Amino acid sequence: MKTDARVVVIGGGVVGCSVLFHLARAGWTDVMLIERSELTSGSSWHAAGGFHTLNGDPDIAKLQAYTVSLYDELEKISGQSCGLHLTGGVMMADTPERMDFLRMTHARGRCLGMQTELITPAEAKAMFPLMDESNFVGALWDPVEGHLDPSGTTHAYAKAARILGATIELRNPVTDITQDPDGTWNVVTKNGVVRCEHVVNAAGLWAREVGRMVGLELPLLAMEHMYLLTDDMPEVMEFNQETGRELVGVIDFKGEIYTRQERNGILLGTYEKAGKPWSPNNTPWDFGHELLAPDLDRIAPSLEVGFKHFPAFENAGIKQVVNGPFTFAPDGNPLVGPVQGLTNFWSACAVMAGFSQGGGVGLTLANWMVHGDPGNDVFGMDVARYGDWTTLRYTNAKVRENYSRRFSISYPNEELPAGRPQQTTPLYDIMTRDNNAVMGDSWGLETPIWFAPQGAEPIDVPSFHRSTDFAQVGKEVRGVRSSVGVTEIANFAKYEVTGAGAEAWLSHLMTNNMPRTGRIVLTPMLNEAGKLIGDFTIAKAGDNRFQIWGSSAAQVYHMRWFEQHLPDDGSVRLHLYGMSMVGLSIAGPNARNVLQKLVDSDISNENFRFLDFAEMAVDGAPCKVNRITYSGDLGYEIWMEPAYQRRVYKALKSAGAQFDIIDFGMRALLSMRLEKNFPTWFAELRPIYGPYEADMDRFVKLSKNDFIGRDAAAREFADGPALKRVTLVVDADTADVICDEPIWARVGDKDYATIPTPHGFGGTRFDAKGTIIPKPPSTDGDWRVVGWVTSGGYGHWVKASLAQGYLPAQLAKNTGSGLFEIEILGIRYAAKIAEQALFDPSGSKMRS
Ligand SMILES: Cc1cc2nc3c(=O)[nH]c(=O)nc-3n(C[C@H](O)[C@H](O)[C@H](O)COP(=O)(O)OP(=O)(O)OC[C@H]3O[C@@H](n4cnc5c(N)ncnc54)[C@H](O)[C@@H]3O)c2cc1C
Repeated sequence: MKTDARVVVIGGGVVGCSVLFHLARAGWTDVMLIERSELTSGSSWHAAGGFHTLNGDPDIAKLQAYTVSLYDELEKISGQSCGLHLTGGVMMADTPERMDFLRMTHARGRCLGMQTELITPAEAKAMFPLMDESNFVGALWDPVEGHLDPSGTTHAYAKAARILGATIELRNPVTDITQDPDGTWNVVTKNGVVRCEHVVNAAGLWAREVGRMVGLELPLLAMEHMYLLTDDMPEVMEFNQETGRELVGVIDFKGEIYTRQERNGILLGTYEKAGKPWSPNNTPWDFGHELLAPDLDRIAPSLEVGFKHFPAFENAGIKQVVNGPFTFAPDGNPLVGPVQGLTNFWSACAVMAGFSQGGGVGLTLANWMVHGDPGNDVFGMDVARYGDWTTLRYTNAKVRENYSRRFSISYPNEELPAGRPQQTTPLYDIMTRDNNAVMGDSWGLETPIWFAPQGAEPIDVPSFHRSTDFAQVGKEVRGVRSSVGVTEIANFAKYEVTGAGAEAWLSHLMTNNMPRTGRIVLTPMLNEAGKLIGDFTIAKAGDNRFQIWGSSAAQVYHMRWFEQHLPDDGSVRLHLYGMSMVGLSIAGPNARNVLQKLVDSDISNENFRFLDFAEMAVDGAPCKVNRITYSGDLGYEIWMEPAYQRRVYKALKSAGAQFDIIDFGMRALLSMRLEKNFPTWFAELRPIYGPYEADMDRFVKLSKNDFIGRDAAAREFADGPALKRVTLVVDADTADVICDEPIWARVGDKDYATIPTPHGFGGTRFDAKGTIIPKPPSTDGDWRVVGWVTSGGYGHWVKASLAQGYLPAQLAKNTGSGLFEIEILGIRYAAKIAEQALFDPSGSKMRS
């Protein structure tokens, strides 16, 4: 066995083999895969082999499309068949709500250049005659779906990797992993130690155990999963003979069933409500090529629906029941990327759809390892999207919830209950018991999102339309804008950076100048390619001392970046406050009148200006105060240790009583920021956009120094951005945009040819390096899909339905009427670009 390699990949399932192949294809050939037993010895061998491109996250959909497009190339390089059957598939809606969901999915697919089509139940039946179409109201057809041979595909990756120079070591379990002080990893195996620069954890069912070898508790859990194989069915064979075609795949949401043709019969799998975890604490090392005992009682409710919807099943004999385990993260997406806190330790696990996603995961990881960047926006599957609060029990609760909801409708206003409350602030009981707050889960922290009237049940009725919160959020917005409101803002990431090198270091990471003592700046952070990877508020608290606020959900992602760039000479110290700092924000024209009553210094506009920072006592509690608010009004953020939060909150409420101070939640805050055209991280600000595209020009100081991403940003500035972020006012009535809706414009073919379509991936068309070949998205006469929505909602103060999104820069100047439409739940509504912020465009309210 080789004892040195640049990379050791642990695990020879479809994911490990894909990572190995992609590394070798990218030119890293000194790479070695170590497998405990034979290839496919975890989940991969008994998978149902289905693949599809649709995914709720457009960036993951892109990687799924890449995976599907790769199989041809893989067969050519390896000479090994993947057993591909590109049949296409239909998703069946049994209710109007499910049809809304399919319309939304179809519309979102337009931005990606997907080829989906809405069809009638009768049209679906023509492709899958075993169904009783009277159970359905409509369907979505996707031609880029099918099934393959899981074992053949895994071996095709492995053979192709070997041909390109990689090594595979079988029947050799990894038993421990240690690291030398110089960073070299020692992968301890049954057959000896392999020293390497990088380790990839692709251990599938055992990824949690391999993580524990280096002190990690990865948030993943295996669930038992069952599918049935029927005997030959005459209905299937007749269809094949008559049409010369195979049956298409079908997803029946109501029955939580997926089904497709397998030889002359049917394969039928379920994501049942009563899903069962497998080996919740420790995966046994001696689990081999085994199946679990079938438990048909558990899936009986799904089968009952299946027999009704597909009557031919009832008479079919069952040839085999396959019950096998495979792993999930709490949200069902993979855990990929470099692990924060470790050097060169990479995660490629929790891949629940290895045959749709394995290629994309391999490409992403290889790009990241070889080129230092994943090459796309992959936050939806970044291992850094979870924090240390995702413990074993939390993961267990969330994975079970996610499994049981695999085929449920996800509504935009839905807050799911499992694993909650995980973290709370000292105000939790006041908010829930006294204030009737509807709480949301903000990266594991309970946060008030809106307040129900006293006496009413504090619940959101799940809907794609305006719901129970609409009137109340409106009241909260009006309360803030006309007088004053208070809200919790603990759900931010908070950092302190100190030391003699602090200012120079921050200035090298951030695009804006660093502030003077007592002042605040807003600043984006870029990667080397000049794309947005962060957006921060930075205050200078004193010499060599900076306070920083950013997105909480990106906290681990940002810590990983900060740690990678910290100088080794100790001149910069980085501290993460976590929940040792919480916050309150007061906003509205009376905010100063309230705060002035509680502080000992003069905070008039002359003495405490917009974007000032000060450490001051609020009602006697030591606090850090920022004169800033995301609502766009006069306002303050007040930060403190949790021990003081109840006191400060109560003091604000009693000082504000004479001004009718109200509590407001996150939904009101987000509605108000839309009226100000403020962007938000994860929606408008993501690593697929440059700072000028995102309209962040004033926060980028190209001549200040050689900050990371400066050269690329300078090119974007010189060439002019390809896209532009805009706010549009939409003629919507009962439903507002959510995100990813297509924006249509009236543009002829000639003009259209000059329009970039960077978000589209054109069905399954990629070049050999995995680069998307754009395809023009949907057309309708002169109308074309030219852009997409990133977020939106109702602006309660300005009384308008608002959408933020990206358009090709040359179209973003067209501010007239009748030029744009936005498709919401299948209906296209007129939309008009707002030339300036709809609330206080001059910014005089927040400055005075
Ligand atoms: C019943 C069922 C049906 C499914 N249907 C589909 C489907 O239709 N479509 C789809 O896309 N997906 C499906 N899946 C999921 C799919 O099987 C997984 O997504 C995929 O197999 C995950 O691959 P992996 O490489 O991450 O993990 P695994 O296949 O579990 O591979 C991990 C490998 O790592 C090795 N290993 C672990 N620890 C060590 C160690 N310490 N040292 C050395 N080697 C080690 C193991 O032996 C194993 O070979 C299904 C799964 C099941 C159970």
